[in-house]
Amino acid sequence: MEKIIVWFTNDLRLHDHEALWRATQKNAMVIPVYCFDERHFAPIKLGFRKTGIFRAKFLLEAVANLQKNLQKIGSNLVILKGKPEVQIAALAQQIGVKAVFGSKEVCAEETAVEQELEIKLRTVGIELNLFWQATLLHLEDLPFPLQKLPDVFTDFRKNCEKIVKIRPTFKNPNKLLDFQAFSQLYPALNLPTTLPTLQELGFATTLPMQDSRAVLDFEGGETTGLQRLQHYFWDTDQLKVYKETRNGLIGADYSSKFSAWLALGCLSPRKIYEEIADYEQKRVQNDSTYWLFFELLWRDYFRLVAKKYGNKLFALSGLKGSRQALQNRTDQAVFEQWIQGKTGLPFIDANMKELQATGFLSNRGRQNVASYLVKDLHIHWQWGASYFESQLIDYDVCSNWGNWNYIAGVGNDPRENRYFNIATQAKKYDEKGEYVRLWVG
Ligand SMILES: Cc1cc2nc3c(=O)[nH]c(=O)nc-3n(C[C@H](O)[C@H](O)[C@H](O)COP(=O)(O)OP(=O)(O)OC[C@H]3O[C@@H](n4cnc5c(N)ncnc54)[C@H](O)[C@@H]3O)c2cc1C
Repeated sequence: MEKIIVWFTNDLRLHDHEALWRATQKNAMVIPVYCFDERHFAPIKLGFRKTGIFRAKFLLEAVANLQKNLQKIGSNLVILKGKPEVQIAALAQQIGVKAVFGSKEVCAEETAVEQELEIKLRTVGIELNLFWQATLLHLEDLPFPLQKLPDVFTDFRKNCEKIVKIRPTFKNPNKLLDFQAFSQLYPALNLPTTLPTLQELGFATTLPMQDSRAVLDFEGGETTGLQRLQHYFWDTDQLKVYKETRNGLIGADYSSKFSAWLALGCLSPRKIYEEIADYEQKRVQNDSTYWLFFELLWRDYFRLVAKKYGNKLFALSGLKGSRQALQNRTDQAVFEQWIQGKTGLPFIDANMKELQATGFLSNRGRQNVASYLVKDLHIHWQWGASYFESQLIDYDVCSNWGNWNYIAGVGNDPRENRYFNIATQAKKYDEKGEYVRLWVG
């Protein structure tokens, strides 16, 4: 029997997983694998890890949940640690697979791994087959070539939202013969299936205690992601007021909080889209139900922008190639005050303390602290983006670096150069000072 490895990355789910579904359609034995990439946990020059403890915890839970859900259908998850391009290639050769299936990424670090793996596999006659499966819209369905992607989001949206048909979700794989065959095989091969601990990923400390002020007790995994969807749409009907509440700062339900599950692929955006459509049929269709779709389009847009512009996304001069950002400074002490929530501006400090204590921050908060760092403190925006990368539980390479480009005024939108007046923002969004009191007393 032929064998296929399904290599999981930021697609930690069974639902709407094209690579997994296609692999199970072949008459082959499917071997699901996840590889913890050691580079993701390394310290960076700015003094923190590329992946901080909140995201590491969420990731470990998500991988554990995927393994459990695979076990329920008679399979398992092989767990490796190291460089995926080395580890997956070695495993593929050891087992003698025909192909490796997985998800197609867009940014430099991820595509470098893909290319390296592809070369290694090709030299031993193994095929690498990667599927586009992280967005609502499929890359191939866009009504323009990627190089013609509009630089203004509204133009992109208007060009796509009515025209592009969102592809239906892929079914979950059933309990299949090939999985059972794999279950019998893997003890014989002695394949590793044990999750690393936080310590093994390089964290000296144990998890910080859950802060009682945190918006949510985020737990990684497809199961909890689907539960959150059920809660937000069906159990509490929050979807129908999303547009009015989405700029909130306190509590679990002012916004969907889907981002962390989306970032690791525990939730598929197309699954959310289908649930919105179902909700509109069964409950109500209004501006709020549309607005969640609208926000998911923003997420798609940043991924497409990242693919179009490549490494400019990470350059100080940004997508625009702006010289303006070059004038900013690299003052470690000022940066540290921002991180610690010690700038002296209560609204900024409250937001930074929330981020530090919980790994989450509202969209409103992110916009304000990012603008303040770049436009008021005049610190390099890349530093802020790197800190968010480490600290955010929902870090997504395209959404994070794309939003930072926008806020820093170096994005691709020629019109976009927004300045957030912090006092005005605090007055508007924290009128009674409740949020500031919650976080800075
Ligand atoms: C400086 C900065 C950095 C950011 N970094 C990230 C990041 O690393 N990961 C991330 O997922 N989002 C990021 N965002 C976007 C946004 O702040 C979060 O997606 C949102 O706050 C998550 O909360 P939610 O799931 O409750 O959002 P909701 O308001 O419920 O929105 C639903 C979903 O739409 C998408 N979405 C909403 N707003 C945006 C946006 N501006 N850009 C892209 N997608 C959006 C997200 O997937 C989100 O889960 C960033 C925004 C800024 C200003």
